[in-house]
Amino acid sequence: MDNYYGRLSVTKQQYKELVHQSKDLLERQLMALRDSFSCDACEGALLKTLDEAIQAQHSGCGYTQWQKEALRVLETDLGAEILQRLQQISAYRDQFACHLCGACCRLASQDADYATLRQRAEAGDDFARQFTSVFLPYASREAARQKAPDLVAAVLAETVEEPEGAERVFFYHCPYVGEDHRCTVYGTEKRPGICQSYPETPLVFIQSQCAWQPWKQETHPQTLMAHALLHVSEQLRQRLQLALAAD
Ligand code: SF4
Ligand code: SF4
Ligand SMILES: [Zn+2]
Repeated sequence: MDNYYGRLSVTKQQYKELVHQSKDLLERQLMALRDSFSCDACEGALLKTLDEAIQAQHSGCGYTQWQKEALRVLETDLGAEILQRLQQISAYRDQFACHLCGACCRLASQDADYATLRQRAEAGDDFARQFTSVFLPYASREAARQKAPDLVAAVLAETVEEPEGAERVFFYHCPYVGEDHRCTVYGTEKRPGICQSYPETPLVFIQSQCAWQPWKQETHPQTLMAHALLHVSEQLRQRLQLALAAD
């Protein structure tokens, strides 16, 4: 994996590992659940993985009930637990208040240039679509530095691990931020959802002076884990549903 975007690439790596761990965890739980069911025809078959167990099923198999129960656990029990966890994190976020420093509007950083972000937006990437609906690229790194020297220095210091990595960080600004650092399109349709929910997106980079930095640091591991579990749970749910439909 590229290492040009320091913390963000570390976060992405952490997320991948958490997805891996979640997959192991959920598959083991579902296999343990399978022990509560039985099927005379399948008796004695040594099945180690969830995929093997799903594939081994046949018409009239006693383990069909297990698949249905597994689906229920994923959709209701686990789904509700993760949702509750994310709601708690979100509620805790509301205990912090924006300083209205405008830092996140005056200088946003991405690991892609504007043309690439537009391409991503056109390809259906919702974050890229929202981001490019307001943010514009600085004409140059120097232009960004002139406008917000402290922020550029902070972002580079906090994101880049290797000197050549700096070339892969692109700076943007929003034209809707006023001289007083307030959003001039606040409460209108022009202000995209990513601004309203900032900084709730798990992969977003938060500048160190942001009011939500302590919240982010405290809740980040749990947020990543919750999203990894959701991701894996959805994959497992689709696999189980497909197998049940083919029955
Ligand atoms: S739309 Fe408003 S809140 Fe969003 S980046 Fe622009 S100025 Fe900031
Ligand atoms: S950087 Fe954080 S504290 Fe400053 S305006 Fe943005 S959200 Fe508010
Ligand atoms: Zn069977």
